[in-house]
Amino acid sequence: MKRLTLLGSTGSIGASTLDVVARHPDRFSIFALTAHSNHEKLADQCLKFKPEWAVVGSAEGASLLEARLRSAGSATRVGYGPEALVAVASDPGADTIVAAIVGAAGLASTLAAARAGKTILLANKEALVMSGALFLDAVCENHATLLPLDSEHNAIYQCLPPHAAGAAPHGGVEKIILTASGGPFRTRDPKTLADITPEQAVKHPNWSMGRKISVDSATMMNKGLEVIEAHWLFGLPAERIEVLIHPQSVIHSMVAYKDGSVLAQLGNPDMRTPIAHALAYPDRVDAGVQPLDLAAIATLTFEKPDEARFPCLRLAFDALRAGGTASAALNAANEVAVEAFLAGRTRYTSIADTVARVLDTISHRAAHTLDDVLEVDREARSLAAGLLGTRDEPLAAAVR
Ligand code: NDP
Repeated sequence: MKRLTLLGSTGSIGASTLDVVARHPDRFSIFALTAHSNHEKLADQCLKFKPEWAVVGSAEGASLLEARLRSAGSATRVGYGPEALVAVASDPGADTIVAAIVGAAGLASTLAAARAGKTILLANKEALVMSGALFLDAVCENHATLLPLDSEHNAIYQCLPPHAAGAAPHGGVEKIILTASGGPFRTRDPKTLADITPEQAVKHPNWSMGRKISVDSATMMNKGLEVIEAHWLFGLPAERIEVLIHPQSVIHSMVAYKDGSVLAQLGNPDMRTPIAHALAYPDRVDAGVQPLDLAAIATLTFEKPDEARFPCLRLAFDALRAGGTASAALNAANEVAVEAFLAGRTRYTSIADTVARVLDTISHRAAHTLDDVLEVDREARSLAAGLLGTRDEPLAAAVR
């Protein structure tokens, strides 16, 4: 029986994870569930999955959650704030941590799980993009295990030789190929990109996801973050990571070998497949996903990404090549710009412009400590907020 802490249980990945968990009560049980502000959904989840702990973002949310749970006779204990997230991520009561908080807000708890030697199922790519080598050092030094939930990285993990992940150079691997749907604006006239609304940007053609990652998918910053994530997870340089647009989202990624073989992982675009793979690893369990019907799909197509249409992808490659704290600056600027776009305070095209200006302005240095990363995160957020005319929101103090 695996005991799980699910960080970000009220989100899209959180809901898909609980769907898989509910199918296998003999294999998985829940130690802790966490949300930020959606205490009502968290209460429903607690009543169904009966965790020992539930964590929300604020004291007020915690009181509301507690009142609802007590009136329903639930014994789940309630905590709040970043310190409580760190506590449930490192508590001996769970062996497996699903890291599914969105953005840099997930860094402290995911890092705490690494330091506590947990098995980490990583969806929160921003944490790894920000802290790179520091995060992997924490994983290695504390004998933690890292399994990718992102569908592309999970696909690559499945296509690599056994035990190869993180140990470059892998026997015979030439390159990895991350597939990308191209999002909702793949064929839109580039002259009209500035008119895109948040509602249009969050409507992904194939995947149902949270709002921030949906915008990242539209700009292809998501693919850029995934390139950086792949670099850290699989130990390959930027030159050996290719991005290929594949609008049907059936091939989730590929590994090309020196002998000409290319291994691909296929499936319907449903996050329950990579989640079930990582949850049950090394076993395989039912995920509730429809079988893939290739005859019905009939055609799989591929094209190179257009850099002019998707400048965020090039910016992410630039940040990866620059090294050090550049990826943390890229991530911070993107988070601030996407939030401003979703709130209707800036145009879609300002996202790439803001990230580019932040990367050009901030000096990139080596990331020796977490403080180096956090300093750049703060600097980039403040600069991006200034460029966009919005308020700067520094990371919580629990990230230490
Ligand atoms: P959602 O926005 O749907 O969910 C985010 C979760 O994080 C919610 O539980 C939310 O709580 C919580 N949260 C938000 N802000 C904070 C905060 N400041 N502190 C603590 N918790 C917070 O996101 P997704 O599920 O789509 O994505 C989660 C992560 O997984 C992201 O890093 C994304 O890139 C990655 N990912 C997602 C995929 C997908 O298909 N959705 C695919 C691959 C990766 P509340 O509900 O209360 O706001």
